[in-house]
Amino acid sequence: MKAVTYVDKGVFEVRDKPEPSVSEPTDAIIRVTTASICTSDLHIRDGFVPRAVKGVTVGHEFVGVVVEVGSGVERFSPGDRVAVNVETFCGHCFYCRRGWVNNCTDRNGGWALGCRIDGGQAEMVRVPFADNALTRIPDGISDEQALLTGDLLSTGYWAAGLGDISEGDVVAVIGAGPTGICTAICCRLRSPAAIVIIDNDPSRLEFARSHGIGDAWVDPSECDPAEVIRGLTEGRGADAVMEVAGGDDTFQMAWRIARPNAVVVVVAMYDRPQTLPLSDMYGKNLVFKTGGVDASSCGEIMDLISTGRIDATPLITHRFRFSEIEDAYRLFESHSDGMMKVAIRFNE
Ligand SMILES: [Zn+2]
Ligand SMILES: [Zn+2]
Repeated sequence: MKAVTYVDKGVFEVRDKPEPSVSEPTDAIIRVTTASICTSDLHIRDGFVPRAVKGVTVGHEFVGVVVEVGSGVERFSPGDRVAVNVETFCGHCFYCRRGWVNNCTDRNGGWALGCRIDGGQAEMVRVPFADNALTRIPDGISDEQALLTGDLLSTGYWAAGLGDISEGDVVAVIGAGPTGICTAICCRLRSPAAIVIIDNDPSRLEFARSHGIGDAWVDPSECDPAEVIRGLTEGRGADAVMEVAGGDDTFQMAWRIARPNAVVVVVAMYDRPQTLPLSDMYGKNLVFKTGGVDASSCGEIMDLISTGRIDATPLITHRFRFSEIEDAYRLFESHSDGMMKVAIRFNE
């Protein structure tokens, strides 16, 4: 079968590999029907993910059909349509028992798929801990509706949860890329009074505005986000801030636009160290929460998709056949032509 393979720093190649087989009783084999490309795939290619193993098949955002399960898999059987979680996890270690599955201590736990073990930009994939890592796709829900469940929507849902958002709050989301959009969609579930979306890319702001995501859209090169937010909060600042952008100055923006006692959620992955200027923020009594997603809410997310309360399908702006995946990578990386997310279809 064909598989997008991390060969060496800077090099991905589509290679022929043997089809995977069940090696642990808790494994499932999935025939991939639709996959996506994530910015983290580019981070792997460019050598920014030290744990990524050379030779691994990349891809951690995909849906498919179960073709085989190990003897220990209880919740799934061949023929089930499933979304695959970015994180596979054992379910019983210290961290899993607390829902912190990103730090599952099993060797196949946390973000393993498409990083440390073969992932889903391939025709078939072995998924460990299938009972925890798979989410059934209900009838009537398309691959594209379900595609972002395990990674981007999990991230947005988790981030919104960390923000302690109450009804009537004003939430700032820094970054209007795919993760920022999913975060804003999930913040909306908590009934804030307003979501302010901040990005310096006018086309991404326009994407959010035209799809009704957020209530105010701010380009910091044109107006001061702090001023816009003060105008919405009787001068206080944002009740919760989601820093999703990971830009040169967006961490500083995040704490500056927060009101005293706000929660600042740092979802972004930075490519250089950041400064926490405690002396400047003394007395502001902020709470910072950071991290990589604990993707343990896929069932809830799929229910919200089924009932129409979450719809991330507008993010899928481009579609390619698997045989065209190199073109898909080029366009995804260029951000051109309004690219947000791509669906790679395997059945065409
Ligand atoms: Zn990802
Ligand atoms: Zn675990």
